[in-house]
Amino acid sequence: MLDCAIIGGGPAGLTAGLYATRGGLQNVTLFELGLPGGQITKSSEIENYPGFFDSTKTGLDFMDTWTKQCFHFGLKHEMKKVASVKKTGEHFTVTLEGGEIVEAKTAIVCTGAVPRRAGFKGEDEFYGRGVSTCATCDGFFYKDKPVTVLGGGDTALEEAFFLSNICSDVYVVHRRDEFRAAPPTLDRAMRKENVHFITDSAIEDCTGDAMGLSGVDIRNLKTGEITHMDNTGLFVFVGQDVKNDVLKDANGDFICDMSELNQVIVNLKMHTSVEGLFVAGDLRIDAPKQVVSAAGDGAIAALQVISYIQEQQ
Ligand code: FAD
Ligand code: NAP
Repeated sequence: MLDCAIIGGGPAGLTAGLYATRGGLQNVTLFELGLPGGQITKSSEIENYPGFFDSTKTGLDFMDTWTKQCFHFGLKHEMKKVASVKKTGEHFTVTLEGGEIVEAKTAIVCTGAVPRRAGFKGEDEFYGRGVSTCATCDGFFYKDKPVTVLGGGDTALEEAFFLSNICSDVYVVHRRDEFRAAPPTLDRAMRKENVHFITDSAIEDCTGDAMGLSGVDIRNLKTGEITHMDNTGLFVFVGQDVKNDVLKDANGDFICDMSELNQVIVNLKMHTSVEGLFVAGDLRIDAPKQVVSAAGDGAIAALQVISYIQEQQ
């Protein structure tokens, strides 16, 4: 039986593994469906993680050191997708894709989230090279330059406001002429002189080359007219999907308490509503969606696992 099963090998899961093994747990396995590293490996740069300041390095380079360090203290890794986690009596049953079952005393679920894609031409090609889903992370790369924001929800309008303090102009492209965002959020963005609204419109295409994005084509959905804008930053905020499937039982019901947005409700110790089950990183409520906070969550969860196991003995 594992002391702890960690599901998801992004910043939260890797840090949880580091803290759990370095904290003395002998039998800890991290289940990651791909190579460990998480969402940040899709980014071309990272410059807001304290202690790491090298603009020539990609997110993949950045996580390379993490992976080496986090596996240094005995954390085991299985490159497997987890299908479900459930509590069976005092322990947890982790079912892997294909049906294999692993028993664990505790579980830390760190399966993260995936920004929703809008589906326009070039979105995948330029993702991480001009197309971004994180203004806090990438806004500074476009200091004093024009950027485009796609979406009309709270996130899009909040991030447009954030970007308006960094970028020269922010063009908000939205498919309707009414906004889903709360009126005060919309109002605040509208009051900024450098935020411009392009409504009833969609991104038709992206232009660019090996260096990244250089412009966007915007289609007016009412007239069909296409306008090209030279622009090196396109921020897509069309919603987010948390990866919470592993926490569903056979009936599709969640095994722990969830928010309205299907994020896991945790307290400041990363405890869920199920004893021995912890959640860390972007999957939890109110996650700031940053590497540094996901890592902090992972450390907290692992320290709680160590205490929990000691209390059980
Ligand atoms: P994730 O990084 O999402 O990791 C979850 C992991 O779980 C993934 O590796 C996934 O494969 C795995 N997984 C999911 N389901 C299963 C399953 N069923 N079984 C096994 N494994 C599973 N943050 C910053 O601080 N600075 C930045 O500059 C920055 N730039 C970003 C740029 C981009 C393009 C993106 C997408 C995000 C960026 N972020 C940035 C945000 C940051 O990457 C996330 O907040 C952080 O990675 C969240 O970490 P996490 O461990 O919670 O989840
Ligand atoms: P959201 O509310 O679902 O809004 C997504 C936006 O993207 C909508 O305007 C939608 O257009 C648009 N969109 C969706 N798919 C698209 C596509 N394929 N192409 C172009 N546009 C597309 O998502 P969110 O803004 O991330 O917010 C998620 C939840 O978090 C919401 O409940 C929100 O209220 C909440 N939130 C709250 C706060 C806050 O309270 N401060 C901050 C951020 C988020 P339509 O409007 O036409 O559907």
